[in-house]
Amino acid sequence: MLYQQGYFRQYLNADGWQQERNPENDFYTLPITLEHTPEGKPLTITVDLPGRSLYAQIWRVKVGRIPLYLLDTNIPLNAPEDQDITDQLYGGDRELRIKQEILLGIGGYRALKALGISPSVYHMNEGHSAFLALERCRDLMGAYKLSFAEAREASTPGLVFTTHTPVPAGNDFFAPELMERYFSNYYRDLGLNPKEFHGLGRQDPNNDQEVYCMTVLALRMAGNSNGVAKLHGTVSRKMWQNVWPGLPSNEIPIISITNGVHAPSWISRDMAGLYDRYLGPKWREDPGEYALWSRVHHIPDEELWRTHERRRERLVAFARARLRSQLESRGGPPSEVDQAAEVLNSQALTIGFARRFATYKRSTLILRDAERLLKILGAKDRPVQIIFAGKAHPHDDPGKELIRQIVHFERNPGARRRMVFLEDYDMVVARYMLQGVDIWLNTPRRPLEASGTSGMKATLNGAINLSILDGWWDEAYTVQTGWAIGRGEEYTDSTKQDEIESNALYDLLEKEIVPLYYTRGADDLPRQWIAKMKSAMRAIGPEFNTNRMVREYTERMYLPALDRESELKSNAFARAKQLAVWKQRVREHWPEIKILEITVDNHKTLKVGESVTIRAKIDLGRLKAEDVSVELFYGSLNAGGEIENPKVALMKPGEKAKGSVFEFAGVNKLVMSGRMGHTVRILPKHEDLDNPHKLGLVLWAK
Ligand SMILES: *Cc1c(COP(=O)(O)O)cnc(C)c1O
Repeated sequence: MLYQQGYFRQYLNADGWQQERNPENDFYTLPITLEHTPEGKPLTITVDLPGRSLYAQIWRVKVGRIPLYLLDTNIPLNAPEDQDITDQLYGGDRELRIKQEILLGIGGYRALKALGISPSVYHMNEGHSAFLALERCRDLMGAYKLSFAEAREASTPGLVFTTHTPVPAGNDFFAPELMERYFSNYYRDLGLNPKEFHGLGRQDPNNDQEVYCMTVLALRMAGNSNGVAKLHGTVSRKMWQNVWPGLPSNEIPIISITNGVHAPSWISRDMAGLYDRYLGPKWREDPGEYALWSRVHHIPDEELWRTHERRRERLVAFARARLRSQLESRGGPPSEVDQAAEVLNSQALTIGFARRFATYKRSTLILRDAERLLKILGAKDRPVQIIFAGKAHPHDDPGKELIRQIVHFERNPGARRRMVFLEDYDMVVARYMLQGVDIWLNTPRRPLEASGTSGMKATLNGAINLSILDGWWDEAYTVQTGWAIGRGEEYTDSTKQDEIESNALYDLLEKEIVPLYYTRGADDLPRQWIAKMKSAMRAIGPEFNTNRMVREYTERMYLPALDRESELKSNAFARAKQLAVWKQRVREHWPEIKILEITVDNHKTLKVGESVTIRAKIDLGRLKAEDVSVELFYGSLNAGGEIENPKVALMKPGEKAKGSVFEFAGVNKLVMSGRMGHTVRILPKHEDLDNPHKLGLVLWAK
């Protein structure tokens, strides 16, 4: 959406409390163009709101070679209230939010269609756009005379979903009444009854009270879903386990694709020059090549350090100028304004902390022990300084309080020249900071940081990460790439956690980071520090970039989606229709399945290498043996008698059935010593079922 006011601009009052300004964008001075019909009128799309239509016009931005289309409701065709729907990113209440998401998901789909674009794969980034999945079905139903179930089978492969939020409350949801008001006509058009429709957005479709969650809708409708770092994938699988009851969390169908950054957009010109010279120009186009990054070691220490120092000097000059204008516009006394010219030291070890001021990010963790911090900052020959920046969400008072605490701490005589809060964090401030600091600090409460990307940008510029093992850092950290605060522990007592982790942070600063930085040879170069900068660049550069990320999305999500979709659509949707019928039949008869008996052929103590055959007598009711896969689920038992790191082996049906009772057999060949356990479970099976776990049908032996 093209927000008339974008995101807010931040400034602080004299007390350090965040104030927000919402200046209007003038679209006619931005590098964007309005899309027109062949007759030269602005191209508009409509979506239905209760009792009226909402219209939007479409703007185009060219991002490199890629057109980006933005929707805008601020046109006279709309009622005055509706003109404001695209005013602000985070304005208003749930009702405005649902209108925005209807516009984004349904309107976005229609806008692409109006522009003559017919994508093969739709990638829903976070749940906000998930109504698009419904509109895709509606469109296919109308065009090809399909039922909702058939259209769903045909469209699912082409829907890809990325979840970003590891906090349940951070996911978008709407009350049932609100959904009813906005969707009762729409879902009747889809041929759905209320229970079926609301069930799509509920973890438990039978719970009439449950809110409609956009993430659940997206997870149910998409053919492939992912989290944005390895750890975040694990967290998401646990968090959404209830959407697929009965599955162990490692089988929940959400994979991980770790975020990356676009190197040329974030590297300083100075550092890019060094890369061009020593890595060769290919780092811009193909940063995924390991051999290329191994040449980081060809950059002479001296040259790398001088380049880095130049960027630090620039950052200090930028921070002083910013601080000066902040103080002037706050109406600070001239004496204070003049002092801005003297804050920070362009030679000192510089820590950067800039991010959204959400409370889980714990921006003030480093302030926890004031005395200890002041000692670190004020050491005579080894000064340390910190630059902060970041916006709190306009409704997040606890987040704003953290900013206030930082500003107050800065007034401490021992911190005055060593700590600065820069207002109005944006990409310009981010670039200066990432490109000039020595240490990039991140202190989230694990596991709430989905990925984080600023640390990747920092590494490319030679800063070293000092972070909790959360998000991307959990997989990127090694002793060669930076510093870890803690070892990935998770706590239930957050006060205790803050105490332990802030102490770990001070320890690292005092015992490792400050000494390493200030250990200089006769040439005044911190050789070991530089070695660490280089090994971090070499390890992180080829992995955590957008080329690798996009390749992964392409290979693991988009291309399989394309293949599957064309199969299901071929022959006038024949296979999609068959699959829909088959699913309906399996759902209906699933409760008839009974596991009658499990027997083990050989019950004595076995040696490693020997095998044991396990047989299960199963009544399939009206289902056929080829409708199910019967699995042997086995592994060594832990002290609690539970199977650890289970393995799965297919059990084969015997030749003869007695009525609907089949015997399935599977072999467990022992590869380890110790106490072993097994159980049997049944999952649905069909050649066009891409993932048997997704149907939500699984029966375990009791
Ligand atoms: C990179 C970036 C972010 C995201 O960084 P995190 O590591 O997720 O905090 C946020 N804001 C700006 C301006 C950025 O450049």
